[in-house]
Formats: sequence, structure tokens, C-alpha cells
Amino acid sequence: MEDELINIKTTALSFIWEAEDKKSLEETKLQFLGRSGKLTLAMKELPKLPIERRTEVGRLANEIKITIENALEQKQLDLTSEKTSKIKQSIDVTAPGIEPKIGHMHPISQVLHETIEIFKSLGFQVADGPEIETDHYNFEVLNIPKDHPSRDTQQTLFLDTTDTLYSPGEMLLRTQTSNMQGRIMEKTKPPFRVLVPGKVFRYEEVDASHGFEFWQVEGFMVDKNLSMSNLFATLDYFFKQFFGRDTKVKFVCHNFPFVEPGAEAYISCVVCKGKARLPDGQGCSFCKRTGWVEILGAGMIHPNVLRAVGINPDIWSGFAFGTGLSRMATLKFGMDDLRLLTNPDLRILEQF
Ligand SMILES: [Zn+2]
Repeated sequence: MEDELINIKTTALSFIWEAEDKKSLEETKLQFLGRSGKLTLAMKELPKLPIERRTEVGRLANEIKITIENALEQKQLDLTSEKTSKIKQSIDVTAPGIEPKIGHMHPISQVLHETIEIFKSLGFQVADGPEIETDHYNFEVLNIPKDHPSRDTQQTLFLDTTDTLYSPGEMLLRTQTSNMQGRIMEKTKPPFRVLVPGKVFRYEEVDASHGFEFWQVEGFMVDKNLSMSNLFATLDYFFKQFFGRDTKVKFVCHNFPFVEPGAEAYISCVVCKGKARLPDGQGCSFCKRTGWVEILGAGMIHPNVLRAVGINPDIWSGFAFGTGLSRMATLKFGMDDLRLLTNPDLRILEQF
């Protein structure tokens, strides 16, 4: 009997030792201590022993039962701490967390906000307007009648007016934010200073310097005794604030139908700083070796435009200017391709 009990103890302890998980430990417990377990059955045999041996064998059986129970309990603890340490090994709780990515404003938005802030400091108000426009506000009111040759330079996207109250060719996607000049001037009494940023659309083939959809900003001011000097001073101040104090600005005569006289503004090249040459002696291709980059069209508002919106050109005068925000962004950030501005790749956008 004692040998059988010792044998049960040895087997049970080896099973417990080898148990790899709680399930096999539970099975071992049932196998030895369960209702039909080996030790339980052996202990049921005790009363059959002669009375003088019963106490001694009974004590041995109890000791073995306690040993097995202790071993089970210890193994249970070992398995739990083993699992915990495995988890600890796979997770380094002291490692720094993953830093969330924080976005920033798109280059166009940065340029837009900066432009608005500069003109606000000069007393300009900001206006918004419709992207779907009538021929009247996009062209007619700006002194560009239907047969005017300058219409050819603005590749217009006309809208299908079938089943609408509008005639064919009457509705279009605005080609310039100047469409707001007429809308604002006919409802506002001068004097005023207004800035109109927004998207414009052209039927253009997309390449490095052209897009079918881009951002413009239009500004105009109407007051008494305004002259080209006021226009030059305003734009010179703006460019120096925007591109830096060293920026040189020059104006060249140019004809636009909605201004008289008209001018184009150039700034000193942002890449070669107006030197037309790069530090390595190579000619600057950005400004085509001229040292200047064209940036903006401007002029004194044509008397016909003022008349068309009910403002007397004998009393009031005004100036207007318009530039591409997309172009300004490429110049500011030194991009060589306009298409980068509409590229959603974060690796590109994170650089600006
Ligand atoms: Zn250059």
C-alpha cells in the first residue's frame, strides 16, 4: 500500500512538473484528486487495512495529498507569472508612445492667409463670391464685350444651359475673381477697399505652369484722387511684406480691357535674387536668365467699368490688381511645378 501511494505521489508530481498550461494542470488534478482520482480511490482502501497500520498509512496518504495540492498550487502560480512575463517581454511598457501626427495648413492656405493679413492691415475687406458666374459679371461689366479679342486668352468653361432660363453661353465657371468687382461695386457706395480670393477655372491643358483650376486673388480700391502711385505703393508694400524686404518690384506697361492705364508687375527672381545667375555661375532657369518674374496684372479701373456699375468716373477713381495665389505659393516655396499644389502625397506637403 505504501509503495502504491509513493508511486502515485511520484507520478502526480512529474505530471504537475510537466504541465504546460492550466488546462493540463486541471486534468492532472482530476486524475489524482478527483472523485475517481488515483489517490482518492487509494484512500478509500484505507478502512480495509488492519487497524494497527491504518493510522500510519493514513498519515502518509494525507501527507501525499497535501504535497500534491501544494505542488498544484505552486505550478498554478508559476504558469500565471510565466504568462505575465511573456507579455512583459513582448511589450516594453517603458517605450515612448507613438506620437500622433499633427497636420498643418496647406501651402495655398498659408499663402492665402498671409495675403489676407497683409491687405487687412492696409484697410482692405475680404469678400467671397460665386464660382458659377454669368457672362455679364465675368466679362461684360469688365469692359470685355462678346467680340473682344481678350476673351480668347481666357479659355472659358461654359455650362450647359439646356432646360434652364439662361441662353447658351450665358453661364460659365468664372475665369477670374474679377467677377466680384461688378457685383460689389454696384451695391457699395465708394470709397472702399476689397480683396477677393477664390478659385478660378480655365479650359487649359495641365502642365508644370498651367492648371484647369487654380487660386487667384483680386483686389480693388475706389476713392477720390487715386492714381497709379497709390497702386504702385500698395503693391510694393505687399510684395516686400510677402517675399521679403529685399524684393525689388518693377512695373511694365500692359493692356488689360478693364483698366486704363494697365501694368504688369514683376518681382526680382526669388531663386537668383534678381542676379539672373546662380552662385555656381550657371544662368538661372527659373527667371529665364532675366532676374525678374512676372507676378501680377494691375491698373486704374477703366471709366467704362465704373460707369457700368453706376459710379461716376469724374468724381471717383480706382485701381485693381489680380494675381495667382497658386503662382505666389510656388514662388514663395520654390516649387518648380504647379501640380505639386494639388498632389495629396503627404511626403510633398510636409515639406511646406
Ligand atoms: Zn532667377
